[in-house]
Amino acid sequence: MLFEFHHKHKQPIARPWADVETWNDRMKFIMEEYEELAAEWEIISNKLASGDIPNTADMARFLKEMCDCEYVLRGTGVAFGLPHSQAFSAVHASNMTKAVGKPGGKVPKGPDYEPPNLIPLSKPSLNKPLKVKEAKADLPPPEGGTK
Ligand SMILES: [Mg+2]
Repeated sequence: MLFEFHHKHKQPIARPWADVETWNDRMKFIMEEYEELAAEWEIISNKLASGDIPNTADMARFLKEMCDCEYVLRGTGVAFGLPHSQAFSAVHASNMTKAVGKPGGKVPKGPDYEPPNLIPLSKPSLNKPLKVKEAKADLPPPEGGTK
């Protein structure tokens, strides 16, 4: 899905790590979206603090910003040729080794915690930008489908 967006809108695809402009742009996009998410969170938080209940429009705006954050993070994976979905699965598997903590609180690592090994997924595949066909072949298949 994000590959399609990057291809259509001429965004970077599998660009090298050494490309500082792409690196800085991606972080700027991420920060902008998180600031928008924080603004929507603050609206809801203020309502709850004053005894109000967030309405459907509040929640819809919050949900939109959650998706925007995920979109730019997944897009960053496409931009740098990093397999976000595979890494996310590895982080999930690691998180499942964490200890059971206080309900609703931060989940502690505990003695059985196994950190994810993302090294095999983090190696830049090339030192120069890929052509679209090469980039698409370098990306993992979409969830539940083939390339
Ligand atoms: Mg947004």
